[in-house]
Amino acid sequence: MRLDYLTIFPDYLAPLQLSLPGKAVASGLLDVHVHDLRQWTHDRHRTVDDTPYGGGAGMVLKPEPFGEAFDDLFAGGGLEGATVVVTTPSGEPFTQELARELATRERLVFACGRYEGIDQRVLDHARTLIEVREVSIGDYVLNGGEVAALAITEAVVRLLPGFMGNAASLVEESHEGGLLEHPVYTKPASWRGHDVPPVLLSGDHGAIAAWRHEQAVRRTAERRPDLAHPSQVLDGVEVRLAQ
Ligand code: SAM
Repeated sequence: MRLDYLTIFPDYLAPLQLSLPGKAVASGLLDVHVHDLRQWTHDRHRTVDDTPYGGGAGMVLKPEPFGEAFDDLFAGGGLEGATVVVTTPSGEPFTQELARELATRERLVFACGRYEGIDQRVLDHARTLIEVREVSIGDYVLNGGEVAALAITEAVVRLLPGFMGNAASLVEESHEGGLLEHPVYTKPASWRGHDVPPVLLSGDHGAIAAWRHEQAVRRTAERRPDLAHPSQVLDGVEVRLAQ
């Protein structure tokens, strides 16, 4: 998968070189390109922003640098299977389902906003050429889109075949089967007066699976009753999760 990032703070995306994404870059699974938006400016001050039409606080990212960036990035074609992801708190909520959808693309181009955001015509124009998704990572406001782009990237690329050392880790995760994941434990069996639940030491795989499922249902009911999942029976009591 090819990943492009348009940003005025390229250094913010340095973590892409670390840990598993870094390994995936080294192995060729990911082809990462971080672009300084200012390279598509032409004035002495390399201006990327201007005051908002209609007045109001803050600055708006100008359309021309993004327009020229898209012209260059897509000059050799490559629109097929590509999606522009515009990070914005007013976008569609980022979910595991959307991560799965984006993981099917051959190329993602992230447009990272700053200040009051990106001139709307950048999106309107890009939509005439390519799929554009405006995506929010949560109901709060960050200073810029780089952290959002990193979060989206990490959730997407770990779904790519060959990215995770152990693909089985993906199967039972929170948000994969409609339930949050059960609590997890490692050695030692007893730590500061807290013991690992005995069933996990029993070696009885059926009992362990049942306990984990029960814990996942309980946790989901307590923390995220809004998650769509059929009702579950727990201790003989039907726990109703939202449909
Ligand atoms: N004035 C904008 C609004 O109220 O919608 C907020 C702009 S915010 C200060 C600057 C940039 O941070 C946005 O353009 C976007 O790229 C990014 N950003 C902030 N919060 C975000 C969120 N929850 N999800 C995704 N991107 C976000």
